[in-house]
Amino acid sequence: MGTTLGQRIRGQITTGRTYDLIMKVFESRAATVGDSTVSRALPQREHRTVGAWCFLDHFGPSEPGAADGISVGPHPHCGLATVTWLIRGSAVHTDSLGSEQLIEPGQLNLMTAGRGIAHAEQTPIDRRGELHGVQFWVAQPEATRHSTPAFEHHAALPKMEIGSFSATVLLGSFGGVASPARSDTRLVGVELNGTSKSGTELGLEPCLAPRGGGGGRRHPHHRSTIVEPGTIVYMDVGTPSVHLAIDEPTRWMLIGGEPFEAPVKMWWNFVGRTHEEMTEAVTMWNEGNDRFGEVRSALGRIAAPVTPW
Ligand code: MN
Repeated sequence: MGTTLGQRIRGQITTGRTYDLIMKVFESRAATVGDSTVSRALPQREHRTVGAWCFLDHFGPSEPGAADGISVGPHPHCGLATVTWLIRGSAVHTDSLGSEQLIEPGQLNLMTAGRGIAHAEQTPIDRRGELHGVQFWVAQPEATRHSTPAFEHHAALPKMEIGSFSATVLLGSFGGVASPARSDTRLVGVELNGTSKSGTELGLEPCLAPRGGGGGRRHPHHRSTIVEPGTIVYMDVGTPSVHLAIDEPTRWMLIGGEPFEAPVKMWWNFVGRTHEEMTEAVTMWNEGNDRFGEVRSALGRIAAPVTPW
């Protein structure tokens, strides 16, 4: 599973030999967050989650020199962790636990909402400018989704060289290197940064045994596709490896994980299992219930949209 981040560049992805492999390519769609337009790779209508990963937003790159930044007022979350990773620019996170944290490129903000938290994100005026990054959501399993909220900042994350790529492990472990960040399910999130024309083989942890191959009638084969910026390539459970080929500097986000325990429901900033839970969260936030707490922010509180059901 991977998504490219960039404007003009593209790469090619080829899987290792496998049986009955599923490879699907999806386009991101434009979505609005606050005053900004982002490129949303997940959820897709035909494909809601990848492991526990349930929401992938890519923002920027904004024009060089643009007076731009993040500006999202206090809003709540429950049942998910937000994973914030910047390539350019900076932002200050404040939340209802009392956290106040500047994030810069190469650092990770991981906010685990549990039963409820509220936060705001804003680029300070003196730091406004080019902005580029991602915010991903990870659904929490039943075991932790009703528990206490938490916030972690990681100023540095483990890096390694894999072929011609520089890899940073945000979550989980990859290539024998583990992120110090919390994860509630078995998953992986890695940034792969390739700076020149090259090809690199990446071994994947297949999570489950490859499917098919029975009776000797099927032959293992490779699948290959060109990956344009802003697309997400889904590879089935059991894919043993991928080969990434690039012609120009290209950044990929590799995400994966064991299949999630249950289908998730998502509404606005909430992840849960039933419509009733979503409705209850909307009502509690809009009525100012202390479930989500208070955030110190100069920005206005964002009201939850009424559920359509
Ligand atoms: Mn948020």
